[in-house]
Amino acid sequence: MGATRQLDLRDIIGNYPDFPKDGILFRDVNPVFRSNDALKFIADEFHRRFGKVKVDAVAGIESRGFVVATALALKFGTGVIMIRKAGKLPGKTLKKSYDIEYGSAVMELQHDAVKEGQNVLVADDLIATGGTAVAASQLIQQVGGKVSGFAFVIELGDLNGSGRLRKMGHKVESLVVYN
Ligand code: AMP
Repeated sequence: MGATRQLDLRDIIGNYPDFPKDGILFRDVNPVFRSNDALKFIADEFHRRFGKVKVDAVAGIESRGFVVATALALKFGTGVIMIRKAGKLPGKTLKKSYDIEYGSAVMELQHDAVKEGQNVLVADDLIATGGTAVAASQLIQQVGGKVSGFAFVIELGDLNGSGRLRKMGHKVESLVVYN
């Protein structure tokens, strides 16, 4: 067991009550991203958990998901696909609107971002209701990809987003679950 396996992300994740609005306990992944040990731990841990799953590409959800996706892509030996908020991607895109814990938004994917039949692992910092992740999986499938699974650093267990994804037949792995 390597030294990075001992790492407890709960000690590093920040907690900000009433951000970005009253009643939301914001779980801040920034301190995790600032740690090289934590980044390595995340990559190793997801690589172990998705070891038997086919992964041809890793998709990151804007914006904190990009960091997780890049750490994983280097470990899995793949490239990164960016799933972005509306209006950021050039060329022909597909759009999907979705609800989040504190509002609603539109997500976008370039029409040629995923090759037909490619197995895509979706990464984000946190899953709350799962609305963002569902929209991301729908976009990947609409452009001809297959979803290998979902990798989240943090899961808000009470909101049961992972249950929603598992009901759709997806494999979901979260490194820290808050209830
Ligand atoms: P959801 O679609 O409800 O699963 O929301 C997930 C997205 O919203 C992720 O991209 C998170 O970065 C962000 N998010 C939602 N709730 C929180 C929270 N309590 N703390 C930090 N980020 C959050």
